[in-house]
Amino acid sequence: MIASTVKIIRAKKELRTQIKEWHMKGLRVGMVPTMGALHHGHLSLIKEIQKHVDKVVVSIFVNPKQFGPNEDFDKYPRQETADIKKLAEVHTDLLYAPSAKEIYPEGFLTNVKVTKITEGLCASKRPGHFDGVTTVVTKLLLQCLPDVALFGEKDFQQYTVLKQLADDLDIPTEVMCGKLIRDEDGLATSSRNVYLTPDARQIALEIPKTLKRIVDEIEGNIRPIEESLNRGIEHLLKSGVKEIQYLEIRKSQNLEPVTDAITEPSRVLIAAVVGGVRLIDNMPIQKPQ
Ligand code: AMP
Repeated sequence: MIASTVKIIRAKKELRTQIKEWHMKGLRVGMVPTMGALHHGHLSLIKEIQKHVDKVVVSIFVNPKQFGPNEDFDKYPRQETADIKKLAEVHTDLLYAPSAKEIYPEGFLTNVKVTKITEGLCASKRPGHFDGVTTVVTKLLLQCLPDVALFGEKDFQQYTVLKQLADDLDIPTEVMCGKLIRDEDGLATSSRNVYLTPDARQIALEIPKTLKRIVDEIEGNIRPIEESLNRGIEHLLKSGVKEIQYLEIRKSQNLEPVTDAITEPSRVLIAAVVGGVRLIDNMPIQKPQ
């Protein structure tokens, strides 16, 4: 495939000017916000959004506000040169890569908070995480004002929160969800997978396998929900998963907990630590026939 040249912008003012120029020409603009260290999960979002818009902006910003004090902000992979090459290969039009100062200038005092659906799941062990995400995504969407923004199903709670955010704040951007991409062995693709040793990766593979077993058991009415989840937890711990932060079933529409029976499309969601690496995954569950 012939790569194209990606325009790089680092200042919000320049971004606004470029987007305005495209909008004046009647072009639709899509945005894919990322933290970089791009992999084929990100690239699939870019290819997906290209079906809906004329110009694609990808942002790369490792957002300090969404990392807790003991999390991996400092060692989060940063590889802009390799990222630009990948963006060119999928014909991304523009990379927006602002500095921390551009996003959070001195004197910045605002915190954007979505309530209720930001409780539990990923928030249980990462207090303040979603405030960091909603604050930065509000800023990125307002700086770019794209017609469409695409977020990955892999971070399903994050997608649900960001859709709510855009609806609640009347941000004129359609928020869409792009399908979860897995590596060939079944592990959900993630920038953090590079930290897994080969042994840890083998253990991590039990995560998607266990989710699939739970989906099959519940959709097939083979086991009650609680028993299926408990067996899943037991199996993962026995396989070498060090910590299971949550393994739960929630309604896809509003993330309400499901404990008894599946009455509408739902999801089994997990966060677990393997070999010191925090991994998340989820799968849809249909109502049993
Ligand atoms: P990140 O760079 O990890 O913050 O992710 C940026 C965007 O890519 C988010 O919307 C993620 O949900 C999405 N994403 C990350 N990994 C995957 C994946 N394996 N499949 C689909 N989307 C993904």
